[in-house]
Amino acid sequence: IIRVEGMHKWYGDFHVLKDLNLAVDQGERIVICGPSGSGKSTFIRCINRLEEHQQGRIIVDDVELTDDVRHIDSVRREVGMVFQHFNLFPHLTVLENCCLSPIWVRKIPRREAEAAAMEYLERVKIPDQATKYPGQLSGGQQQRVAIARALCMKPKIMLFDEPTSALDPEMIKEVLDVMVELAGSGMTMICVTHEMGFAKTVADRVIFMDGGEIVEEAPPNEFFSNPREPRTQQFLQQIL
Ligand code: ATP
Ligand code: MG
Repeated sequence: IIRVEGMHKWYGDFHVLKDLNLAVDQGERIVICGPSGSGKSTFIRCINRLEEHQQGRIIVDDVELTDDVRHIDSVRREVGMVFQHFNLFPHLTVLENCCLSPIWVRKIPRREAEAAAMEYLERVKIPDQATKYPGQLSGGQQQRVAIARALCMKPKIMLFDEPTSALDPEMIKEVLDVMVELAGSGMTMICVTHEMGFAKTVADRVIFMDGGEIVEEAPPNEFFSNPREPRTQQFLQQIL
C-alpha cells in the first residue's frame, strides 16, 4: 500500500534523506526509531506530502506523489497523521475537531459526521469529553482526541510521529493502549516511536534510521536480540 523507491530529500544544501527504500503491505505495522535529527519525522511527513521529496518515487495506495494537487488531496484523505504535540484546534470542541475534515473535505452531513465522531471517541474511551475544549483535557486525553480525529477520516494508513514523547509517564499507557487496539484492528501503521515495548509487541518490522539513511530493518525479535549494524547496537544500548 506504500512504496518508496530510491527517495532523496534536501533542505537547501542539506541532504536530509538518502536513498530510502521501503515497501509496506496493507495491514503491516512498521516502527521507525533512530537518534534525534536522523530524518524520521521528515520521512513520514514525505509519505503524506507535508514535505516534498526531490528524487525517487513515493507511491501511496497506487497514487504516485507528485506536484499534482489532485494527488495530494487524495493522499491526505487516505493517510491519517498524529503528531507529538497533538495539533488540535484550541478554539474548537473535541467533537468539532473530529468533525471538521469529514464535513469539509469528505462532504459528510454534519449529523452523520457527529455520530461517527462519537463512535471513535468511544473507541478511544473519552466520549464524555466531547463538548470540552482541548485546553481542558490532559495530554493523554488530547492525544486520544487527535487519534480519533484522524480515524474520523477513515484513513487507510495511519502515521504516528512520537505520539507519546510529550506525555507524562502515567498518560503514555492510555495512548499506547489505543494504538495497540488500532493495530489489532488491521490498520496499516507507521509509527515513529522509542517505545520499545510497543515495537516488540505490535511491529511487524522495526526500521532504524541514522544520518538520513535506513541503516537496518528487521522483525522486532531479531532487531532487539541480534542487531547487525554497529550503529543500531550503539543506539539500542543507549535507550534500553
Ligand atoms: P527527532 O527525533 O528530534 O524528532 P527526527 O529524526 O524526526 O528527529 P527530522 O525532524 O526529520 O529528524 O530532521 C532531520 C534533519 O533535518 C535535522 O538535522 C533537522 O535539523 C533538519 N530539518 C528538519 N526540518 C527542517 C527544515 N524545515 N529546514 C531545514 N532543515 C530541517
Ligand atoms: Mg521527529
